[in-house]
Amino acid sequence: MSGDQSLQETLSLIYRLQSMDLEGQRLRAQTEVALAAIQTEKANLESLEKSLDSSKEELIGLEASHQKIEMDLKDTEMLLLEGKKRQKDLKHARDIQAFLAEAEFRRDEKDRMEEEILANLEAQASLAKKIELLQEDLLRKKELYREEAARVSAQNEERKLRIEEIETARKDLEKSFDEDLLETYQRLRSSQKNGQVITRVIDGACESCRITLPPRTVTEVKKRKRIMSCQYCQRWLYIEDGKVS
Ligand SMILES: [Zn+2]
Repeated sequence: MSGDQSLQETLSLIYRLQSMDLEGQRLRAQTEVALAAIQTEKANLESLEKSLDSSKEELIGLEASHQKIEMDLKDTEMLLLEGKKRQKDLKHARDIQAFLAEAEFRRDEKDRMEEEILANLEAQASLAKKIELLQEDLLRKKELYREEAARVSAQNEERKLRIEEIETARKDLEKSFDEDLLETYQRLRSSQKNGQVITRVIDGACESCRITLPPRTVTEVKKRKRIMSCQYCQRWLYIEDGKVS
């Protein structure tokens, strides 16, 4: 095996290893994004449920106060009726005046209560409508959430299996590496943006940062004598077998 071949083989191994790592990285990121999105959906549903619950409580409160006003109204009507009966027995002007003042007060009270009952019934009707819409909305969104959660779970399961496959293949590939090279790769990987250590030369440019490389650099890469780095992003440059760049 000539020196050329061994460098090319090394770069090819690193490139394959990196492809696996990047795919694993991408799959894990997709899983995280999908989980975060489904969490957000769940939180939205919960807040919708809370809003529905508080509307229901509000409606119960309105019904209770409606009953209370109805009872007060009955009392007032009773008092007015009793007053009318008493009116006949009143003889003194002062008593009549007091009676009339009281009757006026009761009638005002009665008007106020009747208005309150109307307002209460209107509020109940609009709240009941709101609850109905919220319930429909919640039902629809729960159904969508269930579908989405099932889809995400299936996709995550697929990704998990693929990650396991990659990990197994990576372990096999690691056997072809000498320890120092693997260590260098790991070190560079953690220092490089996106974990990309090696990149291809495509049409005379670095595939990673897309900047055109000096022709001299490309010539050196083609010679496959030593590892060349992109002068802009510092990644190792690599030309696949059978590819012209
Ligand atoms: Zn570059």
